[in-house]
Amino acid sequence: MTVDVLVVGAGAAGLATALAAARGGARVLVVEKDQRLGGTLHLSGGHLAAAGSRRQRQRGIVDSPAEHLDDIARISGASARADLTQLVAEHAAETVDRLEEAGFAFAAETPRIVYGHEPYRIARTVYGVDEGLSILAVLEQELARAQAAGQALEVWTQAPVTGLLQSDGDSDGGGAVVGVEVLRGGREVAVRATAVVLATGGYGADAELFTELEGVPLVSAAARTSTGDGIHLGRSVGAALQGQGSYLPTFGGLPDPVSPGRANWHDRQRLTSERPPVEIYVDRDGNRWVAEDEPSIDEKERALVGVAEQTFWTVFDDAALDGATGERQIVVGKEPDQVRAMANTRPGVHAAATLGELAQLAGIDPAGLAATVARYNDAVARGEDAEFGRRHLPSPIATAPFYALRNHAVTLVTFQGLDVDAECAVRRADGEVITGLHAVGEVIGAAATCGNSFCSGMLLTPALTLGRLLGERLAASVRDGGTGR
Ligand SMILES: Cc1cc2nc3c(=O)[nH]c(=O)nc-3n(C[C@H](O)[C@H](O)[C@H](O)COP(=O)(O)OP(=O)(O)OC[C@H]3O[C@@H](n4cnc5c(N)ncnc54)[C@H](O)[C@@H]3O)c2cc1C
Repeated sequence: MTVDVLVVGAGAAGLATALAAARGGARVLVVEKDQRLGGTLHLSGGHLAAAGSRRQRQRGIVDSPAEHLDDIARISGASARADLTQLVAEHAAETVDRLEEAGFAFAAETPRIVYGHEPYRIARTVYGVDEGLSILAVLEQELARAQAAGQALEVWTQAPVTGLLQSDGDSDGGGAVVGVEVLRGGREVAVRATAVVLATGGYGADAELFTELEGVPLVSAAARTSTGDGIHLGRSVGAALQGQGSYLPTFGGLPDPVSPGRANWHDRQRLTSERPPVEIYVDRDGNRWVAEDEPSIDEKERALVGVAEQTFWTVFDDAALDGATGERQIVVGKEPDQVRAMANTRPGVHAAATLGELAQLAGIDPAGLAATVARYNDAVARGEDAEFGRRHLPSPIATAPFYALRNHAVTLVTFQGLDVDAECAVRRADGEVITGLHAVGEVIGAAATCGNSFCSGMLLTPALTLGRLLGERLAASVRDGGTGR
């Protein structure tokens, strides 16, 4: 079988690429190893960031790609790829406007500034009523429309790509990618293509690759389909990686009750950018490691990378828990009695009548915890935290029972990925492109568009935007009789 464009992976990036390529007249095949389409969209918050969208204008929000780029540079310390972020910022409004035209169900409160990451200065984040699934609904509808209109767009599910086909190497050994091997219905099938697009997502579910690349163990809340296949496939034909040293975890989640080694991002503590903290954070030795009211979430996440096993405990007393209602909840969505009910029944949630007993239950050094709480209570009494400079010091930790919630830094997205040029062509370490091979979406690494930070919407917006631009380019190249490069 031969097609013009073969897309590996049917997440946001793969579907956006395939739809644009088919719209442009290319014969397209999407191969997806899962039984359903969407990849990470089934879990994702679905936040998109676009400056100058129609929806912003309708609400009187003045914004521009230049201001979006300024925000990205400020938040990431200019550590993201300038060429790619510029392309995304310039074309993101088009992406959101097109979603709107296709019937996207915006959440009523958007565009807004989101505080779960370091905030932008302008309300430019939009998302749907069903988070990532609102995006998938539009993409699936577009797929059905394209097929009904007779466009040459085929999708295979439960069809993992297991290898890349290469032409004979040239003098320096690097052949062009000319297709893929797919396992379909239990048989290896070779599909030849003018252009192969890897859109396989990240490696947040591949513990071995994660530890190889980041040097720390993986505690994941990423999609189970994020198995790093694109990186393995790219490396097999000499692709270089980008984004080394940019890894940043998400702040924390409680241990997953049924899957050891996974953290539950939906049961996470409410960030202190959203409420003043009544708790302290301690490491396994019982020591504090950051000002709990540090306003920058990225600063806290960077500090957490240096904490042993990237694990900490949120410690508070019953008086603090009593006041932790509504917007002041300590665990997102959990009122005080719900937290009490989880204590000593859910893994990682502990309560005890004394701090010593709490430390024993939680696995914290008892002497360390006692000394830290004494110093913290003294800081509260004096109104000054000499150790970390915390300013919000509401009350001592003194009323039993005492609580400790174990939090591990959580990986939702992964930062390294295949190195590409501004046209999403995959490159070797010497900077030469591998003819016929492209990559888009999280497989190019979050660092490409976020640097060493989280910029709101700057994974999905690039996946949809760079995917669409790549699909359009590949279709144009096919029309011109080109190589798909
Ligand atoms: C909980 C959570 C919340 C998030 N919230 C946001 C947010 O609000 N905004 C934002 O911008 N980003 C967010 N992200 C990140 C963002 O959702 C992802 O980066 C993005 O969805 C990735 O899209 P993708 O198309 O690159 O990959 P994916 O959606 O992961 O799709 C890759 C697809 O490739 C398939 N595949 C893999 N290997 C093969 C193979 N060998 N053969 C065939 N198919 C294969 C997979 O099965 C999968 O379907 C979030 C992530 C998580 C986990």
